[in-house]
Amino acid sequence: MATPEAGQYRRIATEEAFSTPELFDAMRAWAAAAPADEPDQDFWSYVFSQDLPGLQRVRRQLLDLEDERLQIMDANGVDVHLLSLTAPGVQTLDNGAATLLAARVNDQLAEVIARHPGRFAGLAAVAPQDPKAATVEIERAVRELGLNGVVINSHTRSEYLDDEKYWPIFETAEGLGAPIYIHPRSPSALMAQAYKKYGLETGIYGFQAETGLHGIRLICSGVFDRFPGLQIVLGHLGEGIPFWLWRVDYMHPVRSSHNSRPSLELKPSEYFKRNFMITTSGMNWHPALRFCIEAVGADNVMFAIDYPYQLTEGAVEFMNDAPISAEDKHKIFHENAERVFRIRSC
Ligand code: MN
Repeated sequence: MATPEAGQYRRIATEEAFSTPELFDAMRAWAAAAPADEPDQDFWSYVFSQDLPGLQRVRRQLLDLEDERLQIMDANGVDVHLLSLTAPGVQTLDNGAATLLAARVNDQLAEVIARHPGRFAGLAAVAPQDPKAATVEIERAVRELGLNGVVINSHTRSEYLDDEKYWPIFETAEGLGAPIYIHPRSPSALMAQAYKKYGLETGIYGFQAETGLHGIRLICSGVFDRFPGLQIVLGHLGEGIPFWLWRVDYMHPVRSSHNSRPSLELKPSEYFKRNFMITTSGMNWHPALRFCIEAVGADNVMFAIDYPYQLTEGAVEFMNDAPISAEDKHKIFHENAERVFRIRSC
């Protein structure tokens, strides 16, 4: 490999959201009909009903794939968006409709990627609420459409993927070498009530609490003893887990009459380092980045913007200016994403 010039980086952004008009219609109908205590209902009703300039921009930019998005990428030196259907995807819809819609979205995504060689990669949308159908779609999306992995938006109807009924999804993903990006959504109904009083259920804290819990549940369930090659990706610098790893290791063997944690072959932190990648989405903060590199290694960190919810300029500037080695910057900007998502290097 040629030694890259300092400051010259290929930039692959790995948590970049889009939607389709059909998905918007389905989400609007769902948000209008969902019970008021449905955790994501408030947020999506707000996104669809308010005409604030920021929300108009987000709605426009979610639906645009080939125009404004590419201009913003070009203006900021972003080479590739790894695209994923925005949360909560199809996970709130009825099983049959969700499965059909996921397949249509994946077809559309593959067409966009094919029209812009080298600019886009994509994660397959799936409907985990029908695990069998989800495995069929993952297989099709990866093998036939050439998509680079799978996105699942944390809980599905307040259930988590450590439930064994979802393990066929892991088996399929592991077999294909397809990473699963577990993207945040509002906390499950089990925990959502405690977030409402101060509007904490979204990006300020609830997304992280929900998705960090999901990651810890997967580790403690033993899913990685069963599927040692499974690769999970978490945004927001690991949704808080890296900071907590030492204490999870320390507490995990402590047993008492009221916990029933299964025994594990490895320490929790060893699974995190072996089976998880983390991305910088929405966490443009150098102290946290440096801590994560020290805690989990630069080979496990990837660049992400969280377009269009976060601005491209800030994310690129954050990583350009990061006080880390050029070698680590190359890993984070592109080399790790090329390896994990099998994005052609150039
Ligand atoms: Mn995101």
